[in-house]
This record gives sequence, C-alpha cells and structure tokens, in this order.
Amino acid sequence: MTDAMTRFPPTRLAALERLSRFVPHAGRDYAARRNYDLGPDKHDGVSMLSPYLRTRLLTERDVLDAVLGRHSASAAEKFVQEVFWRTYWKGWLEMRPAVWTQYKTALKGQIDAVQTQSGLRAAWEAACTGQTEIACFNAWANELVETGYMHNHARMWFASIWIFTLRLPWELGADFFLRHLLDGDPASNTLGWRWVAGIQTPGKTYLARTSNISKFTEGRFAPKWQLAGEAPALNAPPVPERQPVPAVAPPRPNLTTGLLLHDDDLSPGYVLDAGLAPIATAVVTTRKGLSPLSIAPKVEAFAQAASEDTVTRFTDRLGTIARPAPTAPALARWAAEQGIEQILTPYAPVGPNADLIGRLAAMPDGPRIAQIRRDFDSAAWPHATHGFFRFKDQIQTLLGAMRGLNTVR
Ligand SMILES: Cc1cc2nc3c(=O)[nH]c(=O)nc-3n(C[C@H](O)[C@H](O)[C@H](O)COP(=O)(O)OP(=O)(O)OC[C@H]3O[C@@H](n4cnc5c(N)ncnc54)[C@H](O)[C@@H]3O)c2cc1C
Repeated sequence: MTDAMTRFPPTRLAALERLSRFVPHAGRDYAARRNYDLGPDKHDGVSMLSPYLRTRLLTERDVLDAVLGRHSASAAEKFVQEVFWRTYWKGWLEMRPAVWTQYKTALKGQIDAVQTQSGLRAAWEAACTGQTEIACFNAWANELVETGYMHNHARMWFASIWIFTLRLPWELGADFFLRHLLDGDPASNTLGWRWVAGIQTPGKTYLARTSNISKFTEGRFAPKWQLAGEAPALNAPPVPERQPVPAVAPPRPNLTTGLLLHDDDLSPGYVLDAGLAPIATAVVTTRKGLSPLSIAPKVEAFAQAASEDTVTRFTDRLGTIARPAPTAPALARWAAEQGIEQILTPYAPVGPNADLIGRLAAMPDGPRIAQIRRDFDSAAWPHATHGFFRFKDQIQTLLGAMRGLNTVR
C-alpha cells in the first residue's frame, strides 16, 4: 500500500470511522480551528473526508446527517456551509460546462508552452517538485505529492503564490493539483483556482500574506519579503451563458439492464433501489482523464480500490462484474456481449465520467443510457445561479428537505 492509501484507506468502513471520530469536532472546534495548517498528519482542525466525498464512498447526506445528529444547526453552521461549497461548485459548473472545456483547452496550450519555453519549463518543474525559494510553498508541494492531500488554507496560499508570486499560468497549477490530489475534482478545483485568480468572482483575487501564513501555520512559516504584495486579477474569456441543469431520461422497465459503476458515485444503493436489477455491472475509473499528463499512480489506485470496496459491499446486487477499459467502444462491446439493452448509472457531473457516458450515448446501435441523479443534487444544483452567498440562503431549505423526506437520496 502506498503512503497515501495508509492515510486514506479506500473503504467505506474507514470513511465512516473517520467521520465518527470527526463528528464531535464538527461544531465550534471546527469553526475555531479549520483555518490552521499545522503540517502533514496534524490536520486535526478539519475532517480530511474529501477523498471519500469526492468518490461518494461517503455521501454529503451521510456527513450532514451525522454532524447534525450531534450538533445544532448553528453550532455546525461553518462545517455545513463548507460541505455545501462542494455542492455549489458542482451545480455552478453543471450549468456552465464550457468552463471546464475552456480550462482543458487553455491547459493544452500551456503544456505546449512548457515544452517550448525553457524558462517556463524550469519554473514549472521547480514549483511541482518543491524546489522554489519559498519554503512553505515547497513544503505544501511535497506534502501534496507524498500524501495526496493539502489543507484548504494551504491550497489558497499555494494557488496565490503560484499565480501572483511565481507568475505561473494558473491552469498548470490546477493541473498539478488534479494529478496529485486524491480528491481532485473538476468543479472544486477549477473553480477554486479561478476564484484565487480573480476570474470566478470578477476582480476579487486572493492574496497570500506572510502574516496570515505565519499565524495559521503557528509560526512554521514566515515567508518575509518573498511574496507578491499585490494580486491583480487575471484576464479570462467571458463566462458562457448559464444553461439549465441537464435533464435525465428515466429508466425504462422491461429492458435487460446493466449497471455502469464509476468513481463519481460509489454509493449506488439509490440506483439499485430504482427497481431494476442489473444482470451485469461494468466498473470503471477515469482519473487518468483529469489531465493530459500522467496522473500520480496513487490517485488512480485510490479510485480503483474504492471501486473494489463498493463491488464487495454490493456484490449480491450487481450481477456479473466486468472491468472493461474506460472507453465507449469497450463499454458498448461489454453491453452487447451481455445482451444489455439499457445501462443504468449514477449521474456523472462535468468531468471524465460524463465525457465517457456522452461518448457511449452517441454510439450508433449502443445501449440506452439512463443516468439517475440524486434528489440532493437535483434540488441543490439549480440554485448555483450566482455567488455562494445567494446559494447559502437555500441551505436551510435543502437540509429540511433532506432530513424530512426519507425518499431524498
Ligand atoms: C485552489 C483550490 C483547489 C481546490 N481543489 C479541490 C479539489 O480538487 N477537490 C476538492 O474536493 N476540493 C478542492 N478544494 C476545496 C477544499 O480545499 C477541499 O475540499 C478541502 O480542503 C478538503 O479537505 P477536508 O475534507 O479536510 O475539508 P473540511 O474543511 O473538513 O471540509 C469538509 C468538506 O467540505 C467540502 N469543502 C470544504 N471546503 C471546500 C471548498 N473551499 N470548496 C469546495 N468544497 C469544500 C469538502 O467536500 C470537504 O471534504 C480546493 C480549494 C482551493 C482553494
């Protein structure tokens, strides 16, 4: 097992254990301590649940139910809001998928520039290998590469230093994160980097300051005189017009049905409860699709092991298991061999699994595809119309719906 997998055992059981250890601290402790980054293996102020939420080995509902079962809504307000940040970013990108396409296109251009400009290449390599002049930046880069995790405050400082002090293209920084984070996520990552760069909230950037770093690392670092003193917002193409959250076609009864299990949602109970028992299941992970460069082996290994944990947990309900290559032709072949007319799958938000499902759906003579979206996502995402502060007003209503109705998945 790699180091990252020891820190983040890829099972639901390990996720539930971490959740129950964290729950007592999710109230006022979290509000007071969440911004402190005390170094690798000392992240006691935060939950470190993100790799589990990212794969949905744990769902947002699992986490919110556990926390609100122990704390009042006001004591847990900060933590609950952070969980909803994740939901907000997903909804925002779902209604503006072209922002992900824009990012991928710009990234390809920056990777070409790295090949042809030796100065850029040297600076990029120094940043990714933790060999800059800035000790805190190097420590965070090394921690990320070694553990697959970085504290939220460090992500903000790191992205700010990357963009405004080292003056590297933000897309290369976002890509560095996606290649190493176990929780690497198209929505939270792309939009988190855009936010620091002043693109997401136009004109509003995030500037990493020595005093803030020193305070919240409890003096571990104080990069005096080394950091940019200002953070002018970057230019970016205009945000494409918002479109509605995509509609999904409901499953049809009386068709021979298979399940596509992917690493955006490894709690497929709600799909299996839709009333159609799959005769076979294809298991895929698509983390390699997060970057044109090589993804760290631990990232793919985590997603695969988490998928295997799910297969073990649901084995009686999945039919014959196959692990085809994550390509549309391989999946179409699998479906044809199994005589599958309809593939059920948990809804995949913008990212490589959605791309794969889109390509499969576009194949002539391919199987019918029915994506099933959780009520939680369907209720929340359409509210990501503007900034988080408007979205935040919906949290109580969304929680009320989630907690009041047992049918909410
Ligand atoms: C530049 C940048 C890049 C980021 N890239 C990613 C990414 O690829 N994947 C990812 O999951 N998160 C990303 N985040 C958000 C956040 O940093 C992580 O979700 C958080 O650090 C995970 O650690 P935790 O589980 O210990 O968080 P906790 O503080 O314990 O929070 C609990 C949960 O709330 C959610 N959450 C907390 N803060 C945020 C936030 N700012 N935005 C969205 N959700 C949040 C996460 O699901 C997290 O697991 C990024 C933030 C920035 C500034």
